[in-house]
Amino acid sequence: MSKDKKPDVMEKIVSLCKRRGFIFQSSEIYGGIGGFWDYGPYGVKMKRAIEALWWDYMVEQRSNVEGLDSTIISNPKVWAASGHLDKFGDLMTDCRECKSRHRVDQMEDPTTCPNCDSKDLTEPREFNLMMKTYVGPVSTEENVAYLRAETCQPIFVDFNQVRVSARQKLPFGIAQVGKAFRNEINPRNFIFRSREFTQMEMEFFCFAEDSMEWYGYWRDQRLAYYKDLLEFTDEDIRTEDHAPDALAHYAKAALDIEFKFPFGWGELEGIHHRGEWDMTRHQEFSGDNLEYFDQENNRKVTPTVVETSVGLDRTFLALLCKAYDEDTADTNKEGKAQDTRVVLRFPAIVAPIQVAVLPLSKKLAPQAEEVYKKVRKYFRSEMDLTGSIGKRYRRQDEIGTPYCITFDFESLEDNAVTIRNRDTMSQERVAIEDLRDYFEKAIDKQ
Ligand code: ATP
Repeated sequence: MSKDKKPDVMEKIVSLCKRRGFIFQSSEIYGGIGGFWDYGPYGVKMKRAIEALWWDYMVEQRSNVEGLDSTIISNPKVWAASGHLDKFGDLMTDCRECKSRHRVDQMEDPTTCPNCDSKDLTEPREFNLMMKTYVGPVSTEENVAYLRAETCQPIFVDFNQVRVSARQKLPFGIAQVGKAFRNEINPRNFIFRSREFTQMEMEFFCFAEDSMEWYGYWRDQRLAYYKDLLEFTDEDIRTEDHAPDALAHYAKAALDIEFKFPFGWGELEGIHHRGEWDMTRHQEFSGDNLEYFDQENNRKVTPTVVETSVGLDRTFLALLCKAYDEDTADTNKEGKAQDTRVVLRFPAIVAPIQVAVLPLSKKLAPQAEEVYKKVRKYFRSEMDLTGSIGKRYRRQDEIGTPYCITFDFESLEDNAVTIRNRDTMSQERVAIEDLRDYFEKAIDKQ
């Protein structure tokens, strides 16, 4: 088995994603639009599975985290208060030679174009990443609104509403999954940096004196999530503490959880101690009281916030990069290498298809369909009738299906099927009535 993660593996992943309907360019028939990606049939299944896993781990399995689904557009004052309208920008420079545009903080040498090595660059300019639109019939200044640049700001704004209606006391968290928009200067590396993406964020409101403890707690929880549920190892991920001089002025501590992508280490998630900054600002700008009355100690406090913020699309990309494998160990009877088996070794819990039902012959389709109907109630499943069984296995390997059920003529007699394991390629005979139990044990690790 080869674990060849050279840069060209990205090209293979991008091409597989398009070919098999995971992810492709948005509005491709019109030439696409930079930094926007559509998720096709398998892609959307997997994206939802990742989201469901995160939601279950962060919200459903805890009594001290509540959920929220806020709008993408809100009163623009939200973004004035958060500081996004002032400063949410990067310095950018244009190459006069090749016309490419770059973020200065991402250039190895800010005086040389990374695209063509020209030294003829424009002066760095501030660039605001907020996407603008108009609400109402006329496009005037007073109708300007912004697409949210992060999902956390509405959480701060709705703090009181959620706390009171859910009868929560400090410390507790509010989580939200949703779209965020940034007019990135240089969208690149497939879905790693796009202009429309999905964030999964949780803001934990606590007392200042306990906040560093919570910061450590959430760092550990998030690392456990990556290791236990997504099966990432110490080789795949690392944490990078922000240096004190690189911290936002209000932050006490911050770290990135990074993943080793084929193009280098890249941020997957940020764990941020945000202090009282957000709550204070929204209090100032809205005039509303966002303080919390601590009955036990008879005091009023502005909650301190610890945040966990992860990109769903980046998680998806990390899973793709980790899962992509080419199996060339196969040889035929003459000892010649067979064509390469491309396998996506996704953890079963997020695989777009968890169980594929493959009748050995088309004649067995009606009976196999009954098995399919049973398993699809509990697991993401599909049935495939076309092509040789070998071809069908390959097809399933390529989309990362961990288990294939083969329904053969014997199945009619013994009410059992053969389960083929994607990774070990081992085959096992299992009674049809035991399938639900079998897959529940094999798939659900939580
Ligand atoms: P970067 O430095 O890579 O631009 P950031 O530090 O600005 O990221 P945050 O504002 O902390 O990112 O956002 C939290 C998470 O949202 C990131 O860890 C990342 O997973 C995701 N994210 C941010 N920007 C993008 C983007 N343009 N495309 C896809 N995901 C993104």
